[in-house]
Amino acid sequence: MSITRFSALDIQSNRSNLDLNIPELPAENIASFFGENVFDEKAMKEYMPEKEYLNIMASIQGRAKLTYEVAEVVADAMKRWAMDRGATHYAHWFQPWTGKTAEKHDSFFNLTPDGNVVEEFGAGALVQQEPDGSSFPKGGLRSTFEARGYTGWDPSSPAFLIETADGITLCIPTIFITYNGDAQDFKLPLLRSIAFLEKAALPVCQWFDKDVTRVYTTLGWEQEYFLIDEAFHNARPDLMMTGRTLIGKYSAKNQQLEDHYFGSIPERVYAYMRDFETECHKLAIPVRTRHNEVAPGQYEVAPVFEECNVAVDHNTLLMDVMERVARRHRLKVLLHEKPFAGINGSGKHNNWSMSTNTGKNLLSPGKEPGKNLRFLTFFVNTIMAVYEHADLLRASTATASNDHRLGANEAPPAIISIFIGQEMFNLLNHIEKGKSAKNDIKQVLDLLGNLPDLEQDNTDRNRTSPFAFTGNKFEIRMVGSTANCAQPMTTLNTMMGDQLLKFYSEVEKMTSRGKDRDEAILVVIRNYIKKSKSIIFEGDGYSDEWKEEATKVRGFHNNTTTPTALDAYIHEKSEKLFTSTGVMNSRELHAFHDVLLENYSLKIDIESKVLEELCFNYVLPDAVQFQSRLAENVSLLNKIGIDKSTSYQTETIKKAGKLIEKIYDSVEKMKDCREKAHNMGDSRSTAIAFCENVKPIMEDIRDYADELEHLSDDKSWGLVKYREMLFLR
Ligand code: ADP
Ligand code: MG
Repeated sequence: MSITRFSALDIQSNRSNLDLNIPELPAENIASFFGENVFDEKAMKEYMPEKEYLNIMASIQGRAKLTYEVAEVVADAMKRWAMDRGATHYAHWFQPWTGKTAEKHDSFFNLTPDGNVVEEFGAGALVQQEPDGSSFPKGGLRSTFEARGYTGWDPSSPAFLIETADGITLCIPTIFITYNGDAQDFKLPLLRSIAFLEKAALPVCQWFDKDVTRVYTTLGWEQEYFLIDEAFHNARPDLMMTGRTLIGKYSAKNQQLEDHYFGSIPERVYAYMRDFETECHKLAIPVRTRHNEVAPGQYEVAPVFEECNVAVDHNTLLMDVMERVARRHRLKVLLHEKPFAGINGSGKHNNWSMSTNTGKNLLSPGKEPGKNLRFLTFFVNTIMAVYEHADLLRASTATASNDHRLGANEAPPAIISIFIGQEMFNLLNHIEKGKSAKNDIKQVLDLLGNLPDLEQDNTDRNRTSPFAFTGNKFEIRMVGSTANCAQPMTTLNTMMGDQLLKFYSEVEKMTSRGKDRDEAILVVIRNYIKKSKSIIFEGDGYSDEWKEEATKVRGFHNNTTTPTALDAYIHEKSEKLFTSTGVMNSRELHAFHDVLLENYSLKIDIESKVLEELCFNYVLPDAVQFQSRLAENVSLLNKIGIDKSTSYQTETIKKAGKLIEKIYDSVEKMKDCREKAHNMGDSRSTAIAFCENVKPIMEDIRDYADELEHLSDDKSWGLVKYREMLFLR
């Protein structure tokens, strides 16, 4: 009998508050500590002379380049601010293609040539660092011996303090590039895409309003996660190593009763939420919404939306904070897309829009009919952009872990379509069918003017749509819960910017021939509606009829697995998109594609090896022991002459025997396929081999093991069970 499972159960049921190390939460209102760990505008104003303060603000808003002299003043102010709050170290904080954040800590302390100790932090240290880049994924951008990589300060995302048990560190958000200046992180392409979209959107905006001088992308993410007791996590090697359970029989009660969604939050979870939310608020992460999700043990947190770059940083930081704070509650937060089979997985919806310096949300239909042509412009161009690059958008959410969601009937399908709601659907229909009479524009504006205020959220919800208009923003619902939001955001911004450039030139061409601009806009929009309308789908995205219609009638792709879904990144069309817009050069794009493939293969490889271990260390020995006990019993009964009533024992021995055999055979086969996959020669073939040959065997093994779990004596089963993990008290 395994000790691990039962001691985990013991630890969990004997937990007391003494066990936990939860800090006293501030009694004051959030406003009094919001952002206190961030070197924000207020801190800069306090610690910097006025001239340099104005300079850095201008540079943050993209209006001026930062000089070395100003950086020197910023560095000094940052150091004083951080040291006043107890910081001893600083770190460049970046987001390499591993998907996790990275940081390399240096102490402020330094020795001068004459042996004196000083606390140092100058422009040099702030602006650029050179971490050894050789161990980060690079997809052929550098050889291992060319270790040099640089991190470079991103002034548009404020520096912050991370407090851990060991001390306080000043973290500086940075980009991460190779010696040659190629991006090898998520942030640099994101920043480029934001700048590009702004450049493309500005002239269009100025048609409608001359006062618009800035356009910025907005993002509001919604983060789903699971929480389990730390003891259970530590007793499951698969959760520890891969973030998900590779085997485990569904619990009889899971989410059928739908009694968890929006239910009351368990006390222990509530305490955790309050604690990590407080940490978030100190870091100016504006988390606002919390609730139970559909699956048992599943929850969601969402902030107020922010400028895209900062929102991306805040989401990555949030994931770190959540993991860190969970430790002191003896909880484990599971961010994986599919920690448990048979119940819902977790996603991260990305709500996306664009705003102007004049305070207008470009996707808000608003109340001023005269300006609604602007809404219509941005709305229809988004649809057109997604229509043109649907496969690329799909690819931007493809990972080994997200494959468990997309394509399974619980999350949006892998087929990209757009849900816009009845109101908008009718509107586009009208515009498409409208005759090009003289008073056309007026008619459309009247139509727009009659729209109810959609910000009140009266578009219907469609959980089955991967890309949905929700009143004043689009929501990408395919993004996985572990993902870095930057990837889909970069893709969407780039697609949209490119689309707006085309739109602008089409309209300009007509106006240069003397057509009224509003009329010209409408003509182009009408063409776009006609061209792209097949991507709009208001029905049930989970249904088989839709899969049939989408692929057979509408000609869409249903890429349910990552290795081939990723092809979209290197299609000629995508390559042209990324390179012509300057968001990624061809080297970066191919390297990125390669890293994504490698990452896929590594994930499956590790999972398969852990599964093998589980079989040999837990499942098979446990089952054999169980079998022996039954056999002993039969022989004992035979010995004393009662031999008629042993069918349970003998049948179970046989059933277990068959399953044991199947597991053993499959594991051997899986090892073989793994080996072959590694020897395929290129990263795409390797990933496909893992997907097509290794993964199915893993699923078979899971089925056999789960059947054994069902069959076996509870006391002889060593792995913590679903029902134990999922219903946290
Ligand atoms: P849901 O009803 O989809 O669960 P939530 O209220 O939980 O919605 O989350 C919606 C998210 O969308 C929030 O993070 C919110 O701040 C964000 N959001 C609202 N308006 C915009 C906008 N203009 N741009 C980007 N995100 C937005
Ligand atoms: Mg949502």
